[in-house]
Amino acid sequence: MSKILIIGAGGVGKVVAYKCAQHPEIFSDILLASRTKSKCDAIAEVVRRDTGHANFHTARVDADNVPELVALIRDFQPAMVLHVALPYQDLTIMDACLETGVHYLDTANYEPKDEAKFEYSWQWAYHDRYRDAGLLAVLGCGFDPGVTSIFTARAAKHYFDEMHELDIIDANAGSHGKAFATNFNPEINIREITQKGRYYQDGKWIETEPHEIAKMINYPDIGPRKSYLIFHEELESLVKHFPTLRRARFWMTFGDEYLTHLRVIQNIGMARIDPVMYKGVEIIPLEFLKAVLPDPGELGENYTGQTSIGCRIKGLKDGKERTYYIWNNCSHAAAYKETGTQGVSYTTGVPAALGAAMMLGGHWTGKGVFNVEQFNPDPFLDRLGPWGLPWHEQADIDLEMD
Ligand code: NDP
Repeated sequence: MSKILIIGAGGVGKVVAYKCAQHPEIFSDILLASRTKSKCDAIAEVVRRDTGHANFHTARVDADNVPELVALIRDFQPAMVLHVALPYQDLTIMDACLETGVHYLDTANYEPKDEAKFEYSWQWAYHDRYRDAGLLAVLGCGFDPGVTSIFTARAAKHYFDEMHELDIIDANAGSHGKAFATNFNPEINIREITQKGRYYQDGKWIETEPHEIAKMINYPDIGPRKSYLIFHEELESLVKHFPTLRRARFWMTFGDEYLTHLRVIQNIGMARIDPVMYKGVEIIPLEFLKAVLPDPGELGENYTGQTSIGCRIKGLKDGKERTYYIWNNCSHAAAYKETGTQGVSYTTGVPAALGAAMMLGGHWTGKGVFNVEQFNPDPFLDRLGPWGLPWHEQADIDLEMD
């Protein structure tokens, strides 16, 4: 029985709120705090109604402001903070957790607001301070990063003596009926996918132009979808923690319409993250664009189809070549029925809440800053299906990845 502070009341925050409230035996007291309190209150209303959780509270907090965070944490005294606001707030929330002596978990690595660049170095630099304070910080516990990293850890533990090639494949074969919308925070999403591609090969990172490399990949229950090689943050930690990997790549599906919109957004300057003057006021074009795009948390109602995310791995077991594929498919409609959000928020929020349960239940322990693949994958994967994301695996098949 523990108190948890959830920060962020977007699509992912709503799913986390549901999942924690469905498990009062673990999360006995829940405080959902975000910049706009009315969003927390709206979530609290439906979560209390649907789960009957008796101790679900809300608060306003500016997570860019460490003293405000510290005051909120001191007042509520949670065992841990689960951060699903934006990656810009990773360091301020980690600072506040250190100052107040509470554990930390997030789903996306830090990126500075004024530079579209994400990497783990800033957060890994907190390791010694967390270790010395006897605290645990768990990084990247959404789906990707998160479940994909834990899938890889399962492969390493149960299927391979040495993993050589890893392909993480991510399809969203859903349709929300909008001309253009992103499935999670538009600002973070557009910054991520307009970057250059990058993959790991024989100890080096190889850079590509954005969306330069594409191939058709067959996804279970979906079929072939054009998938683009992009850089994704878990590649950085996975090649560090599984050093036998010779190649690691990440593939994501994008529809032609989506890429055309993206190209136009970039060409007309709306993806810019530097300030421009408009009617005497400084605005950031990408932040303005976010304000007029559909809210990802509201896309669920008519969303059909499913997501399919998994890991395809090649390596050696007992001296023989082996292949392995592990994946989850998630239906947007089923996610909406349970939590009122679409599948991308759902596939991120469920692992985040389950990761918190792993920490509070003593399944994942440690002092310092850790990525999820460093923990025992078994207790997490034992519960992932019952918590809403069933997964499947096959060994010694044709992976179709050359
Ligand atoms: P949303 O934009 O829907 O929600 C973000 C929430 O954070 C909003 O409630 C917002 O408040 C709040 N917020 C923003 N800035 C602050 C601040 N300074 N102080 C307090 N609250 C703040 O995003 P999503 O729910 O779609 O995504 C949440 C996180 O999940 C992101 O970090 C994203 O990168 C991550 N993610 C991870 C994935 C994974 O698989 N690992 C996949 C998808 C997302 P307000 O409403 O006032 O703006």
